[in-house]
Amino acid sequence: ASPPLLLDVRDLHTRYGRVEALSGVSLQVPQGHIVSVIGANGAGKTTLMNSLMGVLPSRGSVQYAGEALQPLPLEARVARGICLVPERRDLFGSMTVHDNLTLGAYARRRQPWKGDLDGVYGRFPRLLERRTQLAGTLSGGEQQMLAIGRALMGKPKLLLLDEPSLGLAPLIVRDILQIVRQLRSEGVTILLVEQNARASLAISDWGYVLETGQVGLSGPAAELAVNPELTASYLGG
Ligand code: ATP
Repeated sequence: ASPPLLLDVRDLHTRYGRVEALSGVSLQVPQGHIVSVIGANGAGKTTLMNSLMGVLPSRGSVQYAGEALQPLPLEARVARGICLVPERRDLFGSMTVHDNLTLGAYARRRQPWKGDLDGVYGRFPRLLERRTQLAGTLSGGEQQMLAIGRALMGKPKLLLLDEPSLGLAPLIVRDILQIVRQLRSEGVTILLVEQNARASLAISDWGYVLETGQVGLSGPAAELAVNPELTASYLGG
């Protein structure tokens, strides 16, 4: 039997004024799975994430653990365990690594427990080495680790990752996705949005292809990864 759905999105519409960026998106994320949403620039991936967080108003139905999210503001969604790692990472560049992590706990109104910090430093030894360094001076890969570490300080149940591989070298992408896979094995459910289709499908259970605000293809990640339609347009031939 497949696990229960943690997130169930039906017919989601989001617009910027007269421009509709999401036109009836439906997708499901089972508890404990990694689901990836693949799409080109401008397909609506970031709009989807911001709609799920309640940062952008949207129409349709979003059920999370059996509860309707639509009426809830951002803070209430965060309090229920939904955490976004945004595309541009949104770190505080002139604050230290340590202070950025501590803030991640406050975002969920949690005390920054030393155990949680130790957990993040254990997972990312580079962050421990650099804990007194300003976030703005980290490499791209380290900043992505810090953004993920900050989200983990809030003990997420559902982690939304917006293009974690953006601008990173292939070896670093591999490290980051390895961490994502590790998080799933610890019980975190993950919705991963990526342009890097090959790498994200390789760690996912299921995939959706978003094309100008609508889901085109969807299916088991292993099948999508060898789908000829995808191979031509997203998997680099
Ligand atoms: P990228 O990978 O470039 O971030 P994306 O798949 O995340 O792309 P979105 O950023 O969600 O795509 O954009 C979806 C569509 O909505 C695009 O056509 C974009 O131009 C439009 N759009 C995004 N943000 C705004 C905005 N603030 N105002 C108006 N239109 C917007």
